[in-house]
Amino acid sequence: MSASARSVSSVATIPHWIGGKTVAGSPGRSGDVFDPSTGSVTAKLPYASLDELNECVRIAKAAFPSWAATPPLRRARVMFRFRGLLEAASDEIAMAISREHGKTLADARGEVVRGLEVVEFACGIPELLKGEHNENVGTGVDAFSIRQPLGVVAGITPFNFPAMVPMWMFPLAIACGNTFILKPSERDPSASIVLARLLHEAGLPDGVFNVIHGDREIVDGLLNHQDVSAISFVGSTPVARHIYTQGTMNGKRVQALGGAKNHAVVMPDADLDDTANHLMGAAYGSAGERCMAISIVVTVGEDTADRLIEKLVPKIEGLRIGSYSDLNADMGPLITSEHRGRVRDYIDSGVNEGANLVVDGRGMFNDAREGFFLGGSLFDGVQPTMRIYREEIFGPVLGIVRVPDLETAIQLINAHPYANGTAIFTRNGNAARTFTGAIEVGMVGVNVPLPVPMAFHSFGGWRNSLFGDHHIYGREGVRFYTRLKAVTQRWPRDVEHRAEFSMPTMK
Ligand code: NAD
Repeated sequence: MSASARSVSSVATIPHWIGGKTVAGSPGRSGDVFDPSTGSVTAKLPYASLDELNECVRIAKAAFPSWAATPPLRRARVMFRFRGLLEAASDEIAMAISREHGKTLADARGEVVRGLEVVEFACGIPELLKGEHNENVGTGVDAFSIRQPLGVVAGITPFNFPAMVPMWMFPLAIACGNTFILKPSERDPSASIVLARLLHEAGLPDGVFNVIHGDREIVDGLLNHQDVSAISFVGSTPVARHIYTQGTMNGKRVQALGGAKNHAVVMPDADLDDTANHLMGAAYGSAGERCMAISIVVTVGEDTADRLIEKLVPKIEGLRIGSYSDLNADMGPLITSEHRGRVRDYIDSGVNEGANLVVDGRGMFNDAREGFFLGGSLFDGVQPTMRIYREEIFGPVLGIVRVPDLETAIQLINAHPYANGTAIFTRNGNAARTFTGAIEVGMVGVNVPLPVPMAFHSFGGWRNSLFGDHHIYGREGVRFYTRLKAVTQRWPRDVEHRAEFSMPTMK
């Protein structure tokens, strides 16, 4: 039986959040939201029409002047209250995430914490918005710079972190004085409505934060709307490229974070027990559906791969795969039945192209089992020409590429089109230092498998993993959501009644 055939007729409808309240979508296009652990439909999602989008932008635009004029300290206080409410509601949010995404509850709770940290960072906005000042740049002339908000900004987010990725964006955008429209993934939109309710309870004025549902049509509506000043996007590379091209062509500021293929280099001297444990979490946690997941291991030296495979195989075969309600599960299902089919096709292609499938996750579950589950797979003998090496799989599949030395490993990684994250496992400080210096990737770990920067740093990849000039959150986030103004002022005591036509210089 197909997943959609299992859908039940009386499911809840998820509302939009516009102007400080829930808004039921008008009849029209809609989508099904699934519980990936059971394969059944749990809710209907209305896709907004362009008229509804226009109304949402109008409300966000109307809310902007008074929010922008609200002192940063008061904006910070709203964030501070939101932080407390968020912490108190973290179980509710984690449940909303797990039910629609499928990840384990522990994983979902971790996601909420990483989002909460950005809220904590945003609480420091009065300090973060401080400009620079020079007294007496000329006699009696002072100069200073200030950062001002942009207006209505939009965030378009992927399915894999339905709470954390929106929180990479809106806490800073709002704290900087912008109003915000979130277009969450249509796969798992419920968490965003809980976040909207909590912001409202925290005292955020109506219209400052809005959530509108939809697919490509509504994204294109945001890209083409003249009153949307900036777009933050996180998702796959083809869509990121489209968002960046179209958005910048329409004069918007855009940061568009794309897909990934993250390599971990394992040196011969690495602690392989420790490394294998790290790789398990990094490759198979969240069923591999993380943009920072390790999907390729580059083993350096003669027998490093053989020794590592010996440690990995029993762990992969012993993975506990189950629903989020199973508190012992290591990982859950994939997001949709179609995506599971795509991941299986990648495994088939790896076999057909001659890689050695050491652990085969395809047969672990059959389609008779409800839910979009797939076992963990491991390939050895992966070659850079293979599809399973070149393309992002976004599933529980790890591949091993064997190379003779660190230099070859670095060249290999630097030649890959994706450059989001990478890591090296070694006990050798010099190898780690050489790697961190020469590697052309945005986020680098040394014996840290998922080097996701903390909220007070910034997150972003290089090459096809990010389009735009700004990384996300941290100080880069403040720069993205504000524009710089330089003011030069004088308050003359003795006014000279004489025009001056040459270029002003310091006198
Ligand atoms: P996706 O690109 O399919 O969707 C992301 C968002 O774009 C969604 O809101 C979706 O509605 C919208 N969208 C989809 N197709 C569109 C189109 N043709 N035109 C306009 N909008 C469109 O991504 P996904 O499947 O939800 O998420 C997984 C992808 O996100 C992976 O590639 C993963 O690597 C990437 N990701 C990257 C990061 C990062 O920080 N670089 C973080 C998380 C996820």
